[in-house]
Amino acid sequence: MTPEVLYEGKAKIVYSTDDPALVSQKFKDDATAFDGKKKGQIAHKGVRNAAISTRLFELLEENGVATHLVKRTSEDTLLCKRLEMFPVEVVVRNYAAGSICKRLGFEEGAKMKKPMLEFFLKDDSLGDPLITDAHIEELELVTAPEREQIGHLALKVNEVLSVFFAARKVILVDYKLEFGKDVDGNIVLGDEISPDTCRFWDADTREKLDKDRFRRDLGGVEEAYKEMLNRVES
Ligand code: C5P
Repeated sequence: MTPEVLYEGKAKIVYSTDDPALVSQKFKDDATAFDGKKKGQIAHKGVRNAAISTRLFELLEENGVATHLVKRTSEDTLLCKRLEMFPVEVVVRNYAAGSICKRLGFEEGAKMKKPMLEFFLKDDSLGDPLITDAHIEELELVTAPEREQIGHLALKVNEVLSVFFAARKVILVDYKLEFGKDVDGNIVLGDEISPDTCRFWDADTREKLDKDRFRRDLGGVEEAYKEMLNRVES
């Protein structure tokens, strides 16, 4: 069967496979920021993000977190479990950066007293707004037990990743996770974990090693992704 494009996003294309329970996720070099207003390309990003996501999903699996990864089938492509995605994005913040600084006046780099979870509605036409538990309940985005489990999983992911990155001299500032349900109804971590979806700072210099270099025109974008791949593989 010819693969069908199931979804094309800013940074990935998801294709059908011969097995209805599996999809193929191809990572692109395309980069966008500020709701698509800024567009560009980051050389080798697709391959590097595929490699970084693979390593991090494997690490999470080893630590008891179910992920959609089946295997990396080519340099820029992962074979994944097909999930029915929840219409929410979960952001985990260990340090203040990005939208929370604008929204609540945090100083960039301020350490959170404890990891903070924020939920956002996945809806481009509304600009992916921040939502509360009351909104989640009223809009029936996820059930109360699912909300509970997603929160628990996000904090577990944070424990595993924070330790992993600290050992590699990287501060895991914040990142976005997406969860979905597999065919058996299990809640599984999907999407990707990469410098596109995380903020990573060098632990010694606080140099940014993520997509903020592209967002803010800081230069050295490609090099930052390469450095993060090296650290993840070390
Ligand atoms: O924009 P904001 O500061 O809320 O982003 C928090 C974290 O979530 C950042 O690491 C950012 O890269 C990630 N994020 C994402 N996709 C979004 C929104 C945020 O990967 N749609």
